[in-house]
Amino acid sequence: MQGSCLCGAVRYEIDSIDKPIGHCHCRTCQKAHAAAFATTAGVMRDHFRWVSGDDVRTAFESSPGKQRHFCSKCGSHLVAEREGQPHVIVRVATLDEDPGSRPAQHIWTSEDREWLQYDHLPAYEGWPPGR
Ligand SMILES: [Zn+2]
Ligand SMILES: [Zn+2]
Repeated sequence: MQGSCLCGAVRYEIDSIDKPIGHCHCRTCQKAHAAAFATTAGVMRDHFRWVSGDDVRTAFESSPGKQRHFCSKCGSHLVAEREGQPHVIVRVATLDEDPGSRPAQHIWTSEDREWLQYDHLPAYEGWPPGR
């Protein structure tokens, strides 16, 4: 499966999703993604390869030993990794194709923003009516 950043400069590929897909609500993911939560999944290092963009890819150490890799041109956060772990953590929404499995859990909901509501809202396939 192929993944890429918003501008397309940074690309990666994975052989499989190896751990359950989860929506992470932690404060660090909120800030890193500028979003209420981030959809992530573990991929074994053997199953992950950077394909392009080594010249524009950079990383931020958000906590000791945890690197968050992102594109310095467009800002997309693609992968996080912790030193010594056998897997990396892919940001599932940067995959260009269906990962096959489906989200199985929400984690760190104790750090939800008080304004977050993700159920029972009207949903539109595009812009809302009347816009
Ligand atoms: Zn980019
Ligand atoms: Zn998180």
